[in-house]
Amino acid sequence: MNIILLGPQGSGKGTQASLLNARIGVVQVASGDVLRAAIQSATPLGIEAKTYYDAGDLVPDAIVIGLLIEAIDQVPDGTDVLLDGFPRTVAQAQALDAALAERGSPVEKVVELRLPLSVAKERLSGRLVCRTCGAVYNERTRPPTVAGVCDIDGSPLYQRADDYPEAIEKRLRIWERENDALVAYYESKGILESVDAQGAPEIVMTHLLAVLAPAGASA
Ligand code: AMP
Repeated sequence: MNIILLGPQGSGKGTQASLLNARIGVVQVASGDVLRAAIQSATPLGIEAKTYYDAGDLVPDAIVIGLLIEAIDQVPDGTDVLLDGFPRTVAQAQALDAALAERGSPVEKVVELRLPLSVAKERLSGRLVCRTCGAVYNERTRPPTVAGVCDIDGSPLYQRADDYPEAIEKRLRIWERENDALVAYYESKGILESVDAQGAPEIVMTHLLAVLAPAGASA
């Protein structure tokens, strides 16, 4: 089963992906992680992507589509995939559909995590991420037990290069601009669900499992 999580930055897509991984075994493919890895390894596409990434702009479709289809292809056959952060535009959604149709495994469910932008902004501005396992904390609302250290593996936490106020504003504006068309695209296919993302992560996961269940996810 292929699942897509939509929602503004800060709506908890990454957190839900790891909870769902533990619960139903879906493997997360996050466009932000794929881009950060390409940037870090300074691959030709990574170098091209870096300027857009650092400024909080969308990386051009031509770069993102190639990288993400490659990442999806690396997931072993028969494994359920959860896409986080991709697609972000209708052009990306169409390219994804074409690639998955070729592989005979279409997108089965798209779930929109709904969150007021004021809350998303607050979450992003205090966000801290583990360098090793990617666990997400928040300085104010979900602090680690020891400041600056991951509860799970003891690695240092860091603030992402694009989690500064100007980039946060810009990323959320871009999200607003692209999201309606993307939601309409999947709504017209009859595979869109939506879940309130304001509660505690475990509560949100329960709602997610409920809407995913008809697509074949076993809780
Ligand atoms: P994220 O980790 O999902 O917040 O993504 C971080 C940054 O990566 C975004 O601000 C964009 O610069 C870039 N990015 C991630 N996914 C995409 C995408 N699907 N299309 C274009 N740019 C993306």
